[in-house]
Amino acid sequence: MSRSAGLTPDGPVRRSPIEAILWIALAVSVIGLGGGAMAQPASSGMNADNPLTLIRMGQDQKKAIRVGESIYQAIGFSNTFMVVTPAGNVIIDTSLPFNAARHRQLLRAESTGPIRYIVLTHAHGDHIGGVAAWKEAGTQIVAQRQHAEFRHYEVRLGEFFARRNAAQFGLAIPSPGPSPGNYGAKIEPTILFDEKYTFELGGLTFEVLSTPGETPDQATVWVPQLRAAFVGDNFYQSFPNLYTLRGTEPRPALAYVRSIEKVLALRPEIVLPSHGDPIQGAAEITRQLTKYRDAILYVHDETVKGMNAGKDVWQLMREVQLPAELEVGEAYGKLSWSVRGIYEGYVGWFDLDPATIYELPARSVYPEVVRLAGGPEAIAALAAQRNTAGEPVEALHLTAMALAAAPGHSGALQARLRALEILRERCRNTNERGWLEFAIRQTRQALGPATRR
Ligand SMILES: [Zn+2]
Repeated sequence: MSRSAGLTPDGPVRRSPIEAILWIALAVSVIGLGGGAMAQPASSGMNADNPLTLIRMGQDQKKAIRVGESIYQAIGFSNTFMVVTPAGNVIIDTSLPFNAARHRQLLRAESTGPIRYIVLTHAHGDHIGGVAAWKEAGTQIVAQRQHAEFRHYEVRLGEFFARRNAAQFGLAIPSPGPSPGNYGAKIEPTILFDEKYTFELGGLTFEVLSTPGETPDQATVWVPQLRAAFVGDNFYQSFPNLYTLRGTEPRPALAYVRSIEKVLALRPEIVLPSHGDPIQGAAEITRQLTKYRDAILYVHDETVKGMNAGKDVWQLMREVQLPAELEVGEAYGKLSWSVRGIYEGYVGWFDLDPATIYELPARSVYPEVVRLAGGPEAIAALAAQRNTAGEPVEALHLTAMALAAAPGHSGALQARLRALEILRERCRNTNERGWLEFAIRQTRQALGPATRR
């Protein structure tokens, strides 16, 4: 592959041990899955004040957690669940390759019965990455039919996602090798279903239901005798990532709403997300899932209302806020990105500005504007003032102008670095932080060795 000139993370980044483990896991995921759209950072024990606590790797877990009758949980970047029956066991999600051996060890300590089924709640790398660790002769692997197209999509855009993932997670860019074409993914599942797939094992019924949300192939596993619903990534302790910065197809808000309603209608007594802890008790489940559904529906409806009223996407990104009773946190997904995701998911990119119909972006005229304004030094000084005034986003726009006129201009780079550092200081969202740190590394690299830390 050819490296994009703009994406050259400057070598190893110093990280805490837990972060280091995460980055390794992600690297394994990216490489192991052909650079596909991969792991979503996990959301375990989310703490809105510190995005890094979203990630609980479970390295110190000594014993699988018995979370319900016959249900065991291994914690990792994402959870692996095992349902034990007298006729063999069912694995629900397999986490990352990096976690799989440890998860297998923990769960096999509880039951050594044959693995009769693996159910994949969706095709992201942090759910399918450990399949090889669990698959036995005769194991059936179940997924929703869209799994195949989603895997092909991830592999089709493998080089694109490899660069994006490397940027967001501070990894070296892997070499994905020759493109396998439009339909080149290896499809592991042996059973693909449309709306519902039911099987019986050891006296338990497993209903695997289509519940599109974070991905089109998202599935929920419902075990009526246990009143247990395994919901994959359709619920975690943050507003959902309706648009993710590393790139995604639209994640339709109304699909999430319908899928959450489908789970609520089952009246579960335990809900098991693939990231974070299970929710126990019918009343608490109803409270949390209803609030989550209402928060998504509110953001969707306010966006649609604003679109119909003629408001543009920027205005709506600023205006749409959740009422206090629907606050679910933004440690992983962000409202403003979700608003834009909904807006552009519905109508695409044209914003009524006729200039955007043509191939020249606004930045093509920045050098002339900068010259008229007195040169890059003047613009850099203005950017520094904006930083001092607590307006780092304005400073970022200004430094982009100055650097378009004079790439490598030291004053503009310094102001840009400061703006990025202010934003990182304010940041409480794990995805946003990844991209700010990427831009900080790029800016330091442009400034030269003295500023690289
Ligand atoms: Zn996930």
